[in-house]
Amino acid sequence: MHPPYCFDWGHLLSFFVMKPTSRQSELLQELKNYLLFLKDYGYTEIPQQIELNMASSKKSAKAAKPNIQAPEKPIIAVPAQNIGGLLGKVREELGDCTRCKLSAGRNSIVFGSGNPNADLVFVGEGPGKDEDEQGFPFVGRAGKKLTEIIEKGMNLNRDRDTYICNIVKCRPPGNRDPEKDEIESCKPFLLKQLQAIQPKVIVALGKPAASTLLGRTVPITKERGTWHEFEGFKLMLTFHPAYLLRSYTLENRKAMHDDMKKVLKALGK
Ligand code: URA
Repeated sequence: MHPPYCFDWGHLLSFFVMKPTSRQSELLQELKNYLLFLKDYGYTEIPQQIELNMASSKKSAKAAKPNIQAPEKPIIAVPAQNIGGLLGKVREELGDCTRCKLSAGRNSIVFGSGNPNADLVFVGEGPGKDEDEQGFPFVGRAGKKLTEIIEKGMNLNRDRDTYICNIVKCRPPGNRDPEKDEIESCKPFLLKQLQAIQPKVIVALGKPAASTLLGRTVPITKERGTWHEFEGFKLMLTFHPAYLLRSYTLENRKAMHDDMKKVLKALGK
């Protein structure tokens, strides 16, 4: 028996030596990401609830006590038939689409979510498993990261201040990249969505979205953070949040942070 104040060093050591299960590794990675995220924003203690704003990140860094923020809201499910307005017309025209082979394997058409009058539109690549199941874009892990960037990083509200959609509306099998013919079938609807919303700024998330909007192969690591034009709209290119999760380096996080600061400035925020 060890006295109560003694560590069982053997037991403690075995925790580090033992190969973690994949769930444990995932949790450790998430914990690491969260701590890195807090560090980026100048926190020296772990807050119970936080509110972060890029525009005032210096102020936040000094704040000993972070502000209290309302708990995260679930993404509100708006049935396709209830969209209304110009965007509703686009959804109607899309119908129960079978224009490309992705329709064969989908559960849902993931049209988009958010404010149909938003100044800011994020365009991703295509629905994944979670999105296909729930019918809404960016609701899985990458979606949580995107929501965090929007709400904690940019101090915007995902549902009220942005609209989010993808270059293809149905899930590519096994999460492969969408193919050329699939993108070509879906692109007219993306364009119509953007024309209906009339955002001040579009953000292309990752290489496939950037390449689709610009009509050429975009080397995203080189061109992220640069302004472009798409059909008369201001277009910013940045990393896909899934890439950020995979490669959670200080350099990549800073890059995303810088890109979103440019977007906020263009929005007059
Ligand atoms: N990745 C995307 O590009 N889009 C989604 O909707 C979800 C994940």
